[in-house]
Amino acid sequence: MLKHNLGYPRIGIRRELKKVCEAYWSNKIDSNALFEVGKKIREENWKTQDKADLDLIPCNDFSFYDHVLDMSLLLGVVSEPYLSIPVIHNHNNNIDLYFSMARGFQKNGWDIKAMEMTKWFNTNYHYIVPEFDKNQKFSIFSNKIFDELEESKNILKSIKKIKPVLIGPVSYLFLGKEKEKSFHKMDLIENIIPIYIKIINKLKDKGINWIQLDEPILVLDMSEKEKKVFKYAYGEISKFCSKINILLTSYFDGISENISLLQDVSVQALHIDLVENSNQLEQVLSFFSKESKMILSLGLIDGRNIWKNNYANSIQKIKRTIESIGEDRVMIAPNCSLLHVPIDIEYENSIHIDIKNKMSFAKQKIYELNDLEKIVKGNKSILLSNSYILKKSSSIFHDKKIKERTTKITEQDIQRKNPFHIRQKKQKKKFHLPLFPTTTIGSFPQTKEIRSLRNKFRKKELSQEKYDEKIKNFIIYVIKEQEKIDLDVLVHGEFERTDMVEYFSDKLKGILSTDNGWVQSYGSRCVKPPVIYGDIDRVGDMTVEWICFAQSKTKKLIKGMLTGPVTILQWSFVRDDQPISLTAYQIAWAIREEVLSLEKSGIQMIQIDEPALREGLPLKKKNWKSYFDWSIKAFRLSSSVVKDETQIHTHMCYSEFNDIFKHIADLDADVITMETSRSKMELLKAFSVFSYPNEIGPGVYDIHSPRIPTVEEIFDLIEKASKKLPIKNIWINPDCGLKTRKWKEVLISLKNMTKAAKMARIKLSPHS
Ligand code: GLN
Ligand code: ZN
Repeated sequence: MLKHNLGYPRIGIRRELKKVCEAYWSNKIDSNALFEVGKKIREENWKTQDKADLDLIPCNDFSFYDHVLDMSLLLGVVSEPYLSIPVIHNHNNNIDLYFSMARGFQKNGWDIKAMEMTKWFNTNYHYIVPEFDKNQKFSIFSNKIFDELEESKNILKSIKKIKPVLIGPVSYLFLGKEKEKSFHKMDLIENIIPIYIKIINKLKDKGINWIQLDEPILVLDMSEKEKKVFKYAYGEISKFCSKINILLTSYFDGISENISLLQDVSVQALHIDLVENSNQLEQVLSFFSKESKMILSLGLIDGRNIWKNNYANSIQKIKRTIESIGEDRVMIAPNCSLLHVPIDIEYENSIHIDIKNKMSFAKQKIYELNDLEKIVKGNKSILLSNSYILKKSSSIFHDKKIKERTTKITEQDIQRKNPFHIRQKKQKKKFHLPLFPTTTIGSFPQTKEIRSLRNKFRKKELSQEKYDEKIKNFIIYVIKEQEKIDLDVLVHGEFERTDMVEYFSDKLKGILSTDNGWVQSYGSRCVKPPVIYGDIDRVGDMTVEWICFAQSKTKKLIKGMLTGPVTILQWSFVRDDQPISLTAYQIAWAIREEVLSLEKSGIQMIQIDEPALREGLPLKKKNWKSYFDWSIKAFRLSSSVVKDETQIHTHMCYSEFNDIFKHIADLDADVITMETSRSKMELLKAFSVFSYPNEIGPGVYDIHSPRIPTVEEIFDLIEKASKKLPIKNIWINPDCGLKTRKWKEVLISLKNMTKAAKMARIKLSPHS
């Protein structure tokens, strides 16, 4: 029974990767210093995994930015604009070429945009989308994988332990996009396969025994074309790559629907994810018992969450597999790459010991494989102590009152008192807003000054009173500016928040923040997801003081700002001992109490942000319904408690939701604001098919770029929107929060926005 790992975190225990990349980008260090740190991180990772006695250790899982971009360089998928920058091509091992693809190149008169980035399946990791030409040529362009292989030989001593990792050809094509519409990316398979074969055989010639090809496409609803391409690809690979063992990995869900694809391909091993989908085991086993030789790799350790493995559960699966196909044909591993969890729990010093004992980061997870092996060999005490540790006997995990109220949610709790058309009338009468009312999404620029203020406060160099006073000054400033711009609905600016989830998780009982639990989100950007460990309760007001302070400074309406239950859940590590829906309802209830408290304090508009609602969507369509059932219920639980006259807003930042629009309408928010401007109101197409019933603010300018939009272009977008949507339902706003922008840009852009709205009131009003 071999123990192996699919991938290890590459940011370094002190986020060395972030620091060194950012230093390199700002010309503070040279490429040698950069490469040195990369090398150190790889060494450290290999040594850790070797010490934990893994039989197969991944290589080529390191990346300076993103492993999909590494694949593009390996395969020579580099577009013309980047290749044409002479100063970066073929210099410094092409690292500048690589970074220019990831981040754009604006130097020496060049102005080349970065490549597109998007989410890696349903995780919070973002990859750089490969771009293909109709006649895309592939070639071995980068040496990274071979260089790292040589390096790992020096560290690991035995070549037999090294398992290079590649994204498989079918998933790689699937993850990319066509530059023009005239062809289908899957048709490139015949061009790409010879290069894969070359790479694999080159690795074999260097003495490699095992290679891992990631094919997460296997867990999706594959089209007929994709299936055909898959069969072709692996038919060719097995024909032309003999004498090397191929481990095909699937992760993030089960492969049940696609298992028949493996019938005709002769790879040596298949990896399945038993954490996200344990039901598939029996079906896979029955397939395997007909196959004579293939090895089954069981993904048992959760690579996307931070809890210790439940050994009893895992052992049961291992035993069942051994009994069915024999011990020689079993491997054990985490379900997916450990990229999605922090590195080492030993660096956490402020977590309650009863909780910390139950947690496990990447390094600990590797050792869990070791434990499982020992238990299989007969060690009973490890099993016993594991089940003892996992018991949640302490009262910090349980709150009877909370458990009871979430099991007693009624229809009434998730229903506004009256339907939208009645609420809308009452709200219009009360608020007297003009047509095309203007507002923003919530945050205003988070300047260096605010960040250093917060740092001082954290280090206790600044008292609570002084800190609060400074934040209040920012609020006073942002209100004055919004009044000058003549926005209709104002916000307080969110200056007191570093992050929209962390702010709330710090204040809620049952959730904790780690000191060093960093996870890569994209490139050098890392996030520190909170940990939901127990029943969640609101212990007091979280936002009321700030929002009411803001309201006291203006006669205009202030919109209160909250983060929604689905987003708090989605961007946290969630407890795994109860259905996720229950945890969602507990958070929702806490938010509901905050909503009520804001309303009682006189706040008449409340926004509950749900930017993560879409990314939580299951990978297979058949599971969407149950996801929407609980996520919509959670949102409605948090928002339905208010009077008809109190206006509930929500915000989402993506524009491709044509397929889920109906569900978004089910949230029944009075107003939704969303992204559309980057895609020039592409979103509006959806309204031809489905007429959105409530009020909506399709973002009229892109806040992701420093560019200032003109009055005319904003007006054009408003005009476009007014042709698709009832005019009385349209709001005017930017497409997301403004916290990453500079004050100067923000003030001019918003001024242009209000001018455009005023123009629209004159030119587009039904009465003019
Ligand atoms: N209210 C938040 C802000 O303005 C929303 C952020 C988001 O959509 N991610 O920053
Ligand atoms: Zn947004």
